[in-house]
Amino acid sequence: MMNFTLSKFIKRIFPDLIWSYPSSDNKKRVYLTFDDGPTPAITQWVIEQLAIVGAQATFFALAKNIEQNPDIFELIKAAGHAVGNHTYSHQKAWNMTTTEYIEDVDLADNFIGSNLFRPPYGVIFPRQAKRVSSRYKIVMWSVLSRDYSCYCTPEQCLLNVLNWTKDGSIVVFHDSAKAFNNLKYVLPIVLQRLKKEGYEFCKIEL
Ligand SMILES: [Zn+2]
Repeated sequence: MMNFTLSKFIKRIFPDLIWSYPSSDNKKRVYLTFDDGPTPAITQWVIEQLAIVGAQATFFALAKNIEQNPDIFELIKAAGHAVGNHTYSHQKAWNMTTTEYIEDVDLADNFIGSNLFRPPYGVIFPRQAKRVSSRYKIVMWSVLSRDYSCYCTPEQCLLNVLNWTKDGSIVVFHDSAKAFNNLKYVLPIVLQRLKKEGYEFCKIEL
């Protein structure tokens, strides 16, 4: 998890970024998100798991993967989930000019067509954020599963999610090959456990 003081500082300099969606009624809602897909077999597996409990989620897709797997991207939308822009090529913001960054976002928009955006690696600089937020809602997260990390065991990954999730949490998973060893263990348990605790699984909408 991000250091609390640093996180407060970042929230102050980036007022446009969304970190969570606390409810204004008494319902408990959680916003599961899946980055870096679509990935053959893995994205379909995620869609099936979500369907078991009637969960809705948001997929921040990589346009270069949509280009290779257009049918899987259609499956995500057909299942009623939200999709968001995660750029075309998943480059590091610190290696790019603002113009190059925006070009990568706009190129992806041709494939994705969404007003939601999540920066690769969770890094975006103020000048880039200003340009992007004029046309997209920049969606960050409050709970990082670390499913992608080879240093994170499936058991630890599960705790990363269950210990930190509360009403309005935006949780990050990855429908990628790298994360699947953790995801295949964690996702079914998270869905059952949070459902039992009374959570509704919602997609992010504008
Ligand atoms: Zn990513």
